[in-house]
Amino acid sequence: MILDEQRKKVIEIALSVQREKLVPLTFGNFSLRDKETGYVCITPSGMPYESLQPEDIVVLDVDCNKIDGNRKPSIEAPLHCAAYKKRDDIGGIVHTHSTYCTAWACAGVDLPCVTAEAAALVGGKIKCAPFKPMGTVDLADVTTDCLAQDSVVLMEKHGAFAVGANIDQAFVNAVIVEESAKITYLASQLGQLKPINDEMCKFLQADTKENYGQ
Ligand code: 13P
Ligand code: ZN
Repeated sequence: MILDEQRKKVIEIALSVQREKLVPLTFGNFSLRDKETGYVCITPSGMPYESLQPEDIVVLDVDCNKIDGNRKPSIEAPLHCAAYKKRDDIGGIVHTHSTYCTAWACAGVDLPCVTAEAAALVGGKIKCAPFKPMGTVDLADVTTDCLAQDSVVLMEKHGAFAVGANIDQAFVNAVIVEESAKITYLASQLGQLKPINDEMCKFLQADTKENYGQ
């Protein structure tokens, strides 16, 4: 079997997403792009994450053709492939239906930037891509257009789409956007939201990139 380690990594992330309660049942999908081959390893459609074995992870090329695996890939494989195709810097993707992100997405509004973490993540508000039905090429188009060069985007009436240089980073971004969506909702219940201004958002993004962590 090809890309054994990479397939195991996708399963590890699926279980982490489940542990963080970012998905109900199997309402999400996760993938990484192998650096050497350029192939995409993605979760199968509708299979419980705790049952996944490396051979259940489907290997695709970036045009969404199946290279290896007997399972049907996630219905959002066209979306994952479109994102990898549009951006060379993306090495991993975590798509969730996490509760607070999905609530903002169901309201069909951008997520205002009121937390320092959200500012660091995208340097401003988190945009909401217009509604298109699940699993369609239309959804892939509007979501990747709206994502542009950002790390996360909301999907109207659907969920959240987080990308990163690798799948670990995409997972971290998915956790941060859900936490920000939750805090922003709670803050909105306590009074009028006071978003961080654009200039400060950009500063926080650059400062975090330069100074945070080891
Ligand atoms: P899959 O189980 O096919 O990945 O679908 C879940 C989902 O989130 C569709 O948008
Ligand atoms: Zn979905």
